[in-house]
Amino acid sequence: MNDQLIVVAGAGGFIGGHLVADLRRRGHTKIRAVDVKPLSEWYQVDKQAQNLVLDLNLRDNCYTACKDAAEVYCLAADMGGMGFIETHKAACMLTVLISTHMLVAARDCGVKRFFYSSSACVYNADKQKSEDVIPLKEADAYPAMPEDGYGWEKLFTERMCRHFREDFGFQARIARFHNVYGPFGTWEGGREKAPAAICRKVIAAKLTGKHEIEIWGNGKQTRSFMYIDDCLKGIDMITHSDIIEPLNLGSDELVTINGLVDIAEEIAGIKLKRHYKLDAPKGVNGRNSDNTLIQKLLGWAPPTRLRTGMEKTYHWIYDEYVAKYGPRK
Ligand code: NAD
Repeated sequence: MNDQLIVVAGAGGFIGGHLVADLRRRGHTKIRAVDVKPLSEWYQVDKQAQNLVLDLNLRDNCYTACKDAAEVYCLAADMGGMGFIETHKAACMLTVLISTHMLVAARDCGVKRFFYSSSACVYNADKQKSEDVIPLKEADAYPAMPEDGYGWEKLFTERMCRHFREDFGFQARIARFHNVYGPFGTWEGGREKAPAAICRKVIAAKLTGKHEIEIWGNGKQTRSFMYIDDCLKGIDMITHSDIIEPLNLGSDELVTINGLVDIAEEIAGIKLKRHYKLDAPKGVNGRNSDNTLIQKLLGWAPPTRLRTGMEKTYHWIYDEYVAKYGPRK
C-alpha cells in the first residue's frame, strides 16, 4: 500500500495535519493533502506531499482531490468547539456539501477505502442530560436527536456512507470521535475546544500574574478527552478493519470541567480564582464514550491518560502563546 496515493481532506486542520505526518512516518510516499485555507495557515505542512488548496464544497474540486487515490480520509469540516457550533449551525450543516461531493467523487474515482470522521455529537441529547453519565454506546445514536446543526450533518453523512455501501458496494469506515486534543490544534480565536481554551487561560493567568479564570458553565459538566496519538492509531485500525458500522473512538476517562482546570493548574503550578459564566455555550451536561464495542472488535481502546496528554498540550500552547504575545501579555 505504501506507494498508493492517499488523500487527506482537511489536512490544514488539527487532526488532518497530524494524520499526514503519521502517514509519512508509516512509510507512505504518495500523499495528497487538501484544505481550503491558504497554505500559510495550515497547522502542519508536509513539504513532500502534494498540497492542494481547494474548496471541497465544490464538486469538481472533490474530483481533483480524489483522482487516482486508493484511500481518502475525509476530515474537512467547518467546525470548532461549543463556542462555534452552538452559534454557527447553518455553517456546520453546510459541510454536507463537502461530505456529499467527496463521497460521490471517491466512488466515481474508484477509491478503495474512505474514512469519515463522525462525532460524539451524533448521540441522542436525552441521554446526555445528567453530569452523572452512562457512557454512550454506538446504538444510543437512535432514535435520532443529535446536537443541533453540527450533529445532524454528521449523522446524515454516516447514513450516506452506509447507503453508498449498500447501493454501490462503496467501502466507507466511520469513527465517532469524542473530543480530540493535543499540540498543533486551535488554541484561540473562538473555534478552540475546552482543553486548549483552559490551557490558554491558565497560561495567560500565569504570565500576567492575574490569578483568575473564567469557566463556561458551572464546571460540573462531564466529558472525556482523547489524545491525538490515540486518535491516529484508531483511525488507522478502523480504516483497515472490516467494521462497517460507526464505532466510538474516544477515551473513557471521565472528568469534570473543574477537574480539567485542576489538571492545567497543577501543570502550571498555580491556583486560580474561578468565575463561572453560566450563560456561555457549554454543550450537553455529561458525555462519555462506552468502549465495549471497540475493545471487542479491535482489542484496543484509547489508552493515554488525560494528565499525560494535557502536559504535552499545555507546553505546546505555552510556547505558541509566548511566541505570539511575548513572555507577558
Ligand atoms: P479543524 O477545524 O482543525 O480541521 C478541519 C479542516 O477542514 C480545517 O483546516 C478547514 O480549513 C478544513 N475545511 C473546512 N471547510 C473546507 C472546505 N470547504 N474545503 C476544504 N477544506 C475545508 O478540525 P479537526 O479538529 O481537525 O477535525 C477534523 C474532523 O474531525 C472534522 O470532520 C470534525 O468534525 C471531526 N471531529 C473532530 C473532533 C475534535 O475533537 N477535534 C471531534 C469530533 C469530530
